[in-house]
Amino acid sequence: MPGADLAGVHTFRDSRDVDLLLALAAQKKQIVVVGGGLLGLEAAYGLAKAGAPVTLIHLMDRLMERQLDAPAAQLLKSLVARKGIKILLDANTARIHGESHVEGVELADGRRIEAEAVIFAAGIRPNVALAKEAGIPVNRGIVVDDTLQTGASDIFAIGECAEHRGICYGLVEPAYEQARVLAQHLAGDAACYAGSVVATNLKVSGVNVFSAGDFLGSDGSESIVLSDVRHGTYKKLVISEGRLTGAALVGDTNDALWYLELIRTRTPTIKMRTDMMFGRSLALSSEAA
Ligand SMILES: Cc1cc2nc3c(=O)[nH]c(=O)nc-3n(C[C@H](O)[C@H](O)[C@H](O)COP(=O)(O)OP(=O)(O)OC[C@H]3O[C@@H](n4cnc5c(N)ncnc54)[C@H](O)[C@@H]3O)c2cc1C
Repeated sequence: MPGADLAGVHTFRDSRDVDLLLALAAQKKQIVVVGGGLLGLEAAYGLAKAGAPVTLIHLMDRLMERQLDAPAAQLLKSLVARKGIKILLDANTARIHGESHVEGVELADGRRIEAEAVIFAAGIRPNVALAKEAGIPVNRGIVVDDTLQTGASDIFAIGECAEHRGICYGLVEPAYEQARVLAQHLAGDAACYAGSVVATNLKVSGVNVFSAGDFLGSDGSESIVLSDVRHGTYKKLVISEGRLTGAALVGDTNDALWYLELIRTRTPTIKMRTDMMFGRSLALSSEAA
């Protein structure tokens, strides 16, 4: 991107970046965060909490589109805005202005936002250079099969750099699952990694957010929704063939891990369907009745 090499343009990856962001916030610098995913929201919240005026710019029409459906994202947006963060959606960053240092960000639609610093949190891409040089097949990540083996025998890849069945995971849990399968495989046991049911269970900008599985609701599924915007709560459960297959929660995430267990174990939920939304204890007691 034009201007990305100006002084004052940063990323958010490690503890050195965090020290730098804290210093910027202490100086009350006007900051633009590019990216409305998990990391961008975390960076924006940290900076706003430390006293910096923050504008968050996101390319898509809703925040955290990979984890939340439209109503959940809308609720999150209003809760985050209350923390003093200005949010611009459908905002495509075209260039960064400045002589030697950042002075502003220009969007593709011509809008310009004043800024003394810009933080990029707009996604990660695996560094596949080493594998590529070694002649190992790569796409977005280093391609692995169900035993986590790359295209070369006796060379394996796990974690953020690996691409399994077309997916590069950007969270810790799939990497742990891959590590377990690979350890079994290397120990000579039959083991197969079939992919991970990704779950997000975090405080995003101080707001509890959980999502897992088919949270959008694919064809043939049905959704049960409880929405109480005034109290900052949104819950959506997706059901398919008598089983919970996805969930998205904002605000009240008390039953998140139970929902995740139901999704992962493919537990039949027909008997608890009516009460499942209201939590584990009620649902299990009605199932037993
Ligand atoms: C700010 C931030 C917050 C996050 N929060 C969460 C969270 O709350 N929950 C969650 O699940 N995930 C979170 N993540 C994502 C999570 O950190 C990553 O998914 C996870 O660290 C990936 O693990 P990994 O071992 O595959 O890669 P990494 O943790 O990146 O480790 C790879 C290591 O390999 C080293 N390396 C690279 N190339 C070479 C080479 N050629 N030779 C030798 N060493 C090399 C690197 O220096 C690095 O130490 C967060 C990430 C960031 C940046």
